[in-house]
Amino acid sequence: MSSALRREYLAALGLETWVVRGKSPRSREASSSDAPASHVTPEPRDMREPRNVPEPREMREPRNVPEPREMREARNMPKLRDIPEPRDSGAAGDSSPGREAGVDWPELRARVAACTRCVLCNTRTQTVFGVGSQTADWLIVGEAPGAEEDRQGEPFVGRAGQLLNSMLRAIGLAREQVYIANVLKCRPPGNRDPSASEAAECLPYLEQQIALLKPKIMLAVGRIASQNLLRTEVTLGRLRQQVHRFGLSQVPLVVTYHPAYLLRTPADKRKAWEDLKFAREVCARV
Ligand code: URA
Repeated sequence: MSSALRREYLAALGLETWVVRGKSPRSREASSSDAPASHVTPEPRDMREPRNVPEPREMREPRNVPEPREMREARNMPKLRDIPEPRDSGAAGDSSPGREAGVDWPELRARVAACTRCVLCNTRTQTVFGVGSQTADWLIVGEAPGAEEDRQGEPFVGRAGQLLNSMLRAIGLAREQVYIANVLKCRPPGNRDPSASEAAECLPYLEQQIALLKPKIMLAVGRIASQNLLRTEVTLGRLRQQVHRFGLSQVPLVVTYHPAYLLRTPADKRKAWEDLKFAREVCARV
């Protein structure tokens, strides 16, 4: 990439490069355009937490709530060193036409709304089908609705959703341009992890959404979504930065951190940014 193009590209993303103080504007210019390895490229402006701005009440971390799943993951997950790392790992997902195969969007939405296939139907306020463009190239898949999503009937509308929107914006995508869904269509009480049977019952809905959407790329956010979609227990850290494939249609699937995790571990936003750029490259090659 030419240095001029790279400059334009970085500016469009709101990226700055760190330079040694006291350098002349000329040498600073040269530094930012070449982005040498010794320079740190900060995360895009959109993905940063605002500094010194008091959080609005609804964005504050609630107290006395269970630790988020992504944090539990880091402590509790066994080290699965002996599990082979999937590399372009072949098709995950169903290898046969799904339970909802052939169903169109309105019928699929109606089936989800009426679903009683697992116990989560007893505690949900409403199902959370998915949102976005039905001609989107990108399908973002999260884990399950949280409290706010359960209330509003739309995925990723809470604080994590705001960060997800920023992450998408950083790679030039508006929320409306992508499709966003979850592995589970109903909120697990207390945001507990989905059980294997809940995920298995719900997955055919997502599989049919994928069949209808025909995305160019899937971005799985977080361990739970990634492991369920790829049918693996390999840690998220080891699933990142690879092209996996999902389902019969072998949709390229890339994995990154869950925005809720990133809110608590902002240092990993830089890695998420690498994942997003990787996914964008994969999508461009499709
Ligand atoms: N987390 C998810 O995984 N999905 C949502 O819709 C909201 C939060």
